[in-house]
Amino acid sequence: MKKIIIAIDGFSSCGKSTMAKGLARKLGFIYIDSGAMYRAVTLYALRNGFFEHEHINESALADSIKNISITFKLNKDGIPETYMNDENVEQEIRTMEVSSHVSPIAALPFVREALVAQQRKMGEQKGIVMDGRDIGTTVFPNAELKIFVTASAEIRAQRRFDELKAKGKNDTYEKVLENVVERDRIDMTRAVSPLRKADDAIELDNSHMTIAEQLDYIASLAENKIKS
Ligand code: C5P
Repeated sequence: MKKIIIAIDGFSSCGKSTMAKGLARKLGFIYIDSGAMYRAVTLYALRNGFFEHEHINESALADSIKNISITFKLNKDGIPETYMNDENVEQEIRTMEVSSHVSPIAALPFVREALVAQQRKMGEQKGIVMDGRDIGTTVFPNAELKIFVTASAEIRAQRRFDELKAKGKNDTYEKVLENVVERDRIDMTRAVSPLRKADDAIELDNSHMTIAEQLDYIASLAENKIKS
């Protein structure tokens, strides 16, 4: 099978990773969650006291960035999990604490530069599905297939709220909605690689689609690209 690069970008909590993971499994491609990489850097910054209230100690983080190694390893069920310096941080990077600090970290040019370089390396052999905010615009502008996913903020917040609740977290729906809206705002207005649809991306509003419908749709797009 021809190996291609598939870029899936879009707003916070719109189900990109569920789609991307399912698609990668179907095609036998590697799945990379680029958001997990920004989350891991944020966790590192939080743990090391680089946040002073809302201010980030940028020089301390810049000095440390080369010491943060982010990798993905499959768990026993074949699902990729995020490792930071060989520690499994998959659960810890998904907390509201990390969610509410990640967008300012992801707006720092030196953070983006370091992570984009690692992401491009991961795609050298192709056969990859990567999701994020700037995959089709910046990381892989020549990706063979680009999808831009949208859904209303309320629907996205509800999905995220249900996910957190299932994990036993007590955050309120209002707090989750506020975080989703705020992350979108920071992601769209930052100076470096803001969130936007690549001109050649296919837009998919999945507000009223089931996961199976979304997967069928993007799998048929991918199969057509692979055949062509
Ligand atoms: O995808 P996820 O919501 O886990 O990403 C967390 C945050 O990381 C986003 O809100 C965004 O600020 C940042 N991000 C980014 N560029 C990417 C992926 C994620 O700026 N390619």
